[in-house]
Amino acid sequence: MLRWKDIIYYAKYSNPEPSYRIEKTESEWRRVLTPTQYAVLREKGTEPPYRNAYCRSYEPGTYTCAACGQVLFNATEKYHAISGWPSFTQPASRGAIRYAFDDSHHMQRIEALCNVCGSHLGHVFHDGPEPAGLRYCINSVSLKKLEDEPEAP
Ligand SMILES: [Zn+2]
Repeated sequence: MLRWKDIIYYAKYSNPEPSYRIEKTESEWRRVLTPTQYAVLREKGTEPPYRNAYCRSYEPGTYTCAACGQVLFNATEKYHAISGWPSFTQPASRGAIRYAFDDSHHMQRIEALCNVCGSHLGHVFHDGPEPAGLRYCINSVSLKKLEDEPEAP
């Protein structure tokens, strides 16, 4: 389980190694992403609170990176944070996300990026639910949800 001290360590010193990397030029990203996706994923934009796809969705499933398809979060770690954005308390795996200090907008925050393709996802805060206490505040547009496969008969 990741805790705030792990997130600080990753942002400060060294992030976990992803199992693979996807690198594209910005013009390639522009071709494969919608303008809205591009503005958030590649230009670190933020979508409006509440008016987004996954804010109120709690059905089982897996959330992948909308840019590269890597698994980022499981619905089991999603919770209602009353922030207006989908919120998770843990990533799907330790190496799924990369962290960076973000001092933009006169705030000190920690940015969450896809560890495979480097796209912007959102931010991590330390006011999440116990036991980990983490809140991954993620843009819906950065995510693509895969429904769980129905159980085999
Ligand atoms: Zn990605």
